[in-house]
Amino acid sequence: MSSSNPSIDTFADLLRERLPDDAVITEPSAISKAVRLWNAQVTARPAVVARCRTADDVQAVVRAARSAGVPLSVRGGGHDWAGSAISDGGLLVDLSGMRQVAIEGDEARVAGGATVSDVLDAARPHGLAAAVGTVGSVGFAGLTLGGGYGTLIGVVGLGVDNMLSAEVVLADGRIVTADPRHEADLFWALRGGGGNFGIVTELRTRLHPFAEVTTGMLAFPWDQARPVLRAWRTLMATADDALDVMFGAMSTPDGRIIFTLPTWAGDPGQAAGQIDRVRAFGDPVLDDVDRRALADAVHGLDEAFPHGGDYHLGARMMPGLTDDAIEAFVQAGEAMPGTCALNVHHAHGAATRVKAADTAYPHRDEHLVVEIIASWAGGDGAAESAWVHDTENRLEPHALPGGWANLMARDDPHAPDAYAANTGRLLEIKAHYDPDGVFTATPLPKR
Ligand SMILES: Cc1cc2nc3c(=O)[nH]c(=O)nc-3n(C[C@H](O)[C@H](O)[C@H](O)COP(=O)(O)OP(=O)(O)OC[C@H]3O[C@@H](n4cnc5c(N)ncnc54)[C@H](O)[C@@H]3O)c2cc1C
Repeated sequence: MSSSNPSIDTFADLLRERLPDDAVITEPSAISKAVRLWNAQVTARPAVVARCRTADDVQAVVRAARSAGVPLSVRGGGHDWAGSAISDGGLLVDLSGMRQVAIEGDEARVAGGATVSDVLDAARPHGLAAAVGTVGSVGFAGLTLGGGYGTLIGVVGLGVDNMLSAEVVLADGRIVTADPRHEADLFWALRGGGGNFGIVTELRTRLHPFAEVTTGMLAFPWDQARPVLRAWRTLMATADDALDVMFGAMSTPDGRIIFTLPTWAGDPGQAAGQIDRVRAFGDPVLDDVDRRALADAVHGLDEAFPHGGDYHLGARMMPGLTDDAIEAFVQAGEAMPGTCALNVHHAHGAATRVKAADTAYPHRDEHLVVEIIASWAGGDGAAESAWVHDTENRLEPHALPGGWANLMARDDPHAPDAYAANTGRLLEIKAHYDPDGVFTATPLPKR
């Protein structure tokens, strides 16, 4: 079936010479079905979707797009809230059919479109786990290339710290392997620079013996928010790296709660004592902490942020929880519409022992990432989006400059500082590998 645009039809015919017929989609309703992003608020649509199965497919598609002058974008797990996976009216290189994961000793070879759950499910029978985020349906490459915060952060670091090599289709169509000994600058840039340097068709990641951990939701009544956050601060000042305690605010049918997500990735014999220290933050109203497979834990959180909903996200990074920052956080929670949430990652331990210049990802001092998550069902989301902006403003006096590019929209005012002192090197590598700006994933500062 064709589109209504003759030049796109010519381009699609060119693609069909190189890919199986059913891999190239141009009919608008089929495109809408094929795109399926996490955030239904992203209304941009490509004119052509190329469903790739192999690195050779990706190479052929990139070369065809370059020769026809068609802008392209890349879809992995489809979770970028701002829709960077879509080039409006251009070509979508769809990797969601490339989800193979092979376990080789304590490493995994992960195809470019595999999800977090794909990786954990494959590693689990070997007693292993990867550095992943908290939700299973997120793309593993998209998460890793942009940093990769997760509950194992204290013991294994960020996703980028575990990346061993990447197979990449470059803007000129070459396929290269980037690792510490080959294309070392590219390897450095990929570890935090997101999808701005090429299409990763496969990456190798280190695995760790954490297929099972002690983790789960432990929540307290909202009126205990201030003492709970102060107790968090006291505990984390001396906690073992193996104890990660994410926290946040959300609403339940019984009212607003301050939740924690403690994860103990140390000696199972010490788990009860470690989690009891978090239980002692207040009077729990929900206690779901148990020893479980990390694969089950992240899969269990998929439903907390359902695919195809309406979302608007913001984020700020903070160096820690001062009393004033606690107050700002609690006030943001008080003002939070019922369908929204605050979710805080804590970068500590192994993630903070990597030097800022060692990877493109620059944020290596201990810090918090506050994710401000608005969602709504029905309505225009204006009140929820306004709450996101208000919360960013409330946190601003306590925030670090810049922030996390993986959660930024293209026009985010903090984008120029997102790579801090690594900006110059990152832009030089961009100019070398992608001088024409073919890949425009997360926002990069301008030269
Ligand atoms: C519900 C939810 C939970 C999240 N939890 C976490 C978390 O716990 N920790 C964390 O660190 N982040 C988390 N994130 C953020 C997430 O890591 C980023 O949004 C990430 O970019 C999503 O990747 P994706 O492949 O799913 O998305 P997509 O929208 O498919 O891709 C996002 C960008 O990454 C690029 N990209 C994806 N795959 C490739 C590839 N193979 N090669 C080159 N470029 C590629 C694309 O070009 C695109 O611009 C979460 C996001 C959501 C929505």
